[in-house]
Amino acid sequence: MPLQVPCPQCRQMTPFEGNPHRPFCSERCRRIDLGTWASGGYVIPGRSVEVEDDNVSDTADEEDSEDSE
Ligand SMILES: [Zn+2]
Repeated sequence: MPLQVPCPQCRQMTPFEGNPHRPFCSERCRRIDLGTWASGGYVIPGRSVEVEDDNVSDTADEEDSEDSE
């Protein structure tokens, strides 16, 4: 009897050997798990990007007016 492991996403018993998506039962479950991890770890609260953004737009505006003349 082949070794089986429960899918971390849907808890369905799935063969461990010969399974390209292990420990998941399918690619769908693997992507769901990766998506949950990515969306949860990507957002970094308390990050100040407003100062840097203002500085960049000011430089771009100056270059644009010079190009028009
Ligand atoms: Zn699954």
